Amino acid sequence: MRATPVYLDYAATTPVDPLVAQAMSECLSADGDFANPASSTHQLGRRAQARIERARDEVAALIGAEAAEIIFTSGATESNNLAILGVARANAHRGRHIVTSRIEHRAVLDPCRHLEKEGYAVTYLTPDRAGRIAPEALAAAIRADTVLVSLMQVNNETGVVADIAAFGALCAERGILLHTDAAQSAGKFALDVRALPVDFLSFTAHKLYGPKGIGALYVRAESRARLSPVTFGGGQERGLRPGTLPTHQMVGFGVACTLARTRTGEPERLARLRDRLWSGLSRLGGVHLNGDEAMRIPDILSVSFEGVEGESLVTGLTELALATGSACSSASGDPSYVLRALGRSSHLAQSTLRLSLGRGTADADIDQAILAVGREVSRLRAIHPGAFSTKIAPDSCKTSTDSDPIEFDILSPMVRRLFRELPGAGTLEDTPGVVRGEAGDADQELWVRFHLRIEGGIVRDARFQALGCPHTLAVMAWLTGQLPGRALAGLSLGEPAEWAKALGVPIEKLGRLLVVEDALHASLMLSPPSSVEW
Ligand SMILES: *Cc1c(COP(=O)(O)O)cnc(C)c1O
Repeated sequence: MRATPVYLDYAATTPVDPLVAQAMSECLSADGDFANPASSTHQLGRRAQARIERARDEVAALIGAEAAEIIFTSGATESNNLAILGVARANAHRGRHIVTSRIEHRAVLDPCRHLEKEGYAVTYLTPDRAGRIAPEALAAAIRADTVLVSLMQVNNETGVVADIAAFGALCAERGILLHTDAAQSAGKFALDVRALPVDFLSFTAHKLYGPKGIGALYVRAESRARLSPVTFGGGQERGLRPGTLPTHQMVGFGVACTLARTRTGEPERLARLRDRLWSGLSRLGGVHLNGDEAMRIPDILSVSFEGVEGESLVTGLTELALATGSACSSASGDPSYVLRALGRSSHLAQSTLRLSLGRGTADADIDQAILAVGREVSRLRAIHPGAFSTKIAPDSCKTSTDSDPIEFDILSPMVRRLFRELPGAGTLEDTPGVVRGEAGDADQELWVRFHLRIEGGIVRDARFQALGCPHTLAVMAWLTGQLPGRALAGLSLGEPAEWAKALGVPIEKLGRLLVVEDALHASLMLSPPSSVEW
């Protein structure tokens, strides 16, 4: 039996609440409210329409809006696009300057980049080291031709909460429209657009236990005239978002909003779990919390670990489902642009875990996460002579992953085994005959060192240390295992391309193996002349 990983990725998406699923299923099939809500000629259409209006009321109530101010979209990405492109186009005659920040979601940054290609100017504000945008920085960036400010309410990587009220006051004084991406705040704390001075607000169902594929853009009644549609069709959603309304999605979104609005005690519960998680992780030492300590939502914890390589860290954490840096950009393997904007080194940004908690998270999950992260961080630090080589019991390194090969599926069986066991990891004491050769740079997340004991021209013992990806560590372990008993004379362990083939390392990783080869050559070259018989 394969254990399901502990889910700690609620900031990426949430499971649909059973009550939401129930309501949605009542709107799909022939015996339910499946008809087109625009079909006012028959009773079935009118019933679907009534369902939709109720859903609109429920969604509006979550943020204190009027029902008429809710425009249904496919999610926060589309809401952000509609707000940014729609305001820019409707107001091009007034000005063509937009202010946003470097820590926005891609769904804000990419439409802004697109507008730059169309001749608009965009200012990207930089946060302070705590991930906050100072209202003064916004004030300084506003120009005479600024028409829109778009700043998120809660950052999806760090959980830091922005001072939207202060931004709104600045914009209102100057007659500039304010949009906020509230995908990470809606449903998590009380939001009231009657008190919050924003013109447009994006949110999405799947971050609050509703279905994927449905979201909303709040459009303040007085600001409607300053927004143009970006798609054209049947005139639905006040002409701003045409297309047949997806009754089941809207109904599910409505129920999810009501559940979020009426639930009590959840922020306190999550804050307690988050604090327990942080206190457990910080005990490892060399651990950094990303983002302001006080101004944050309770469900997101972003932590950077010194002395470990990020890909190796997550690869070993098969019993946890979590994100590294940004879930959206982690496929690229680049360090998170958000953490870089906070001033984190690319090494720390790259060795970051984002743990996000939710309704299903229990104390036992937190304890399991602390144990698993502690085990992997210690295991990886033990083979890298950084400032934080935590001492651990040898057998605590070699447990846990056997039962759950899900994440390891991306590694070949050979790499998987070597990475899990790391045979040959360690050091050799400084005695005559011991040589070391190293290559790479820990700041570039790749550093390796061989230790060889050579006597009478024979390699008697070999060990390695390393900071690198699972493939690099596996190749180091494998080569280390090949060395003992071999004569230096005529010694050949082949080429990186052959190693990659033997172990099933993808060809893109070959560059890393060249560093391994350099270290191997360096150690062999350093062998004491007396013992070399070329
Ligand atoms: C998840 C998220 C989005 C994207 O929402 P979708 O509904 O998936 O399009 C946008 N912004 C933030 C801050 C998010 O967390």
